[in-house]
Amino acid sequence: MDKGRKENKQRLGLSQRIFLSLVLGVVVGMLIHYFIPAGHFRDDILIEGVFYTIGQIFIRLMQMLVVPLVFFSIADGCRSLGDTDTLGKVGVRIVVFYLFTTLLAIVVALLLANIINPGKGMNINVGDNKFEVEGSTEISLSETILNFIPTNPIEALASGNMIQIIIFAVICGLLIAYMEDRMTTLGNIVTEMNELMMGMTMWVMKLAPIGVFFLLTRTFASLGYEVILSMISYMATVLTGLILQLIIVYLLLLAIFTRVNPFNFLKKFFPVMTFAFSTASSSATVPLHIKTLDEMGIDRKISSFTVPLGSTINMDGTAIMQGVAVVFIANAYKIDLSITDFLTVILTATIASVGTAGIPSVGLVTLSMVLQSVGLPVEGIAMIMGIDRILDMSRTAINVTGDAVGTIVVANSLKAFDKKKYKEKIQEN
Ligand code: ASP
Repeated sequence: MDKGRKENKQRLGLSQRIFLSLVLGVVVGMLIHYFIPAGHFRDDILIEGVFYTIGQIFIRLMQMLVVPLVFFSIADGCRSLGDTDTLGKVGVRIVVFYLFTTLLAIVVALLLANIINPGKGMNINVGDNKFEVEGSTEISLSETILNFIPTNPIEALASGNMIQIIIFAVICGLLIAYMEDRMTTLGNIVTEMNELMMGMTMWVMKLAPIGVFFLLTRTFASLGYEVILSMISYMATVLTGLILQLIIVYLLLLAIFTRVNPFNFLKKFFPVMTFAFSTASSSATVPLHIKTLDEMGIDRKISSFTVPLGSTINMDGTAIMQGVAVVFIANAYKIDLSITDFLTVILTATIASVGTAGIPSVGLVTLSMVLQSVGLPVEGIAMIMGIDRILDMSRTAINVTGDAVGTIVVANSLKAFDKKKYKEKIQEN
């Protein structure tokens, strides 16, 4: 009991320290930007040297955990679920939830962008900006489906291909359960590896306040507020869309489906959002995310499957940015969009959300596919690149919240949400 209380105190302290680091990082970053003259010392030694390196050490430590954690926690989860029925139910429900909320996100973003109309009056000519799209942007449906299946699971693990890892881990876990009598050792290894990765997550999280501070200081030291001001209407539209998605879609769905107080959820989930915000990576957030949901009473068998899946296919914040960006670029180039164009954007942005990896800036690359689908100039992306980092951070925080709400709703529907544990945790806060 005493030990439990001590742990809680420490964990509570950690969330507060992370938040403090976030605020400090913004302030120190701005101070560095305005009070240290631009040049070798500020830009190369401080920003791209010290702050970049220490921030990256933290991100890499977290990334180090993602692949083994996802693999072992899913294999272990499927092993203890043991039957394909429950797994099928979890799979269908979570995919429906993820797609539905992404559709809502993009519709809200398009409506909002048409009301605020960012970029109106900018009058830019096609060819004014340069933006090279890396690699091919054509994503064919059959290719997308075939890419779910790993032809070489070792390669999938080595390259961190999340969907392929999920599929391989599910098959391994189910077969370990099915061949139970011959698989005791392997079964135990999977469970223990899962525990080990969870323990490692806790350990790396102790460094979170330092990591968050260095990451945010670097971001804000390299951006001044002038660049932010010039894009204020676009940024404000995206941020409003993100907040609407959070309050109207997520918190409402949570309250309706689970009857828990959504604001308590936000309080408890806040460190995960902060972490996603600082790293701009849904993938790197997976270990902390599963750990936090576990503390909130969500059965790990469910979350170990739905959270990594969401970090790959469910990007509502990214869809919102893409919807607003389409309207912004159309306005800036004075191009009119028809109803059919908007419907095309809804469809392609949803597919793009599935195809966007949970790492920084990818949403900007998949945006080119959305722009091309309605014949908008891809060079338009160059205009929003400069300030994208801040929006990337914000949309990643929303992306992970969507995954968490989906997970809680699905877990609740399958009686895998321990509300007693949830309430106890909330009260401790
Ligand atoms: N950074 C986002 C994420 O990890 C993806 C994106 O929109 O670029 O969720």
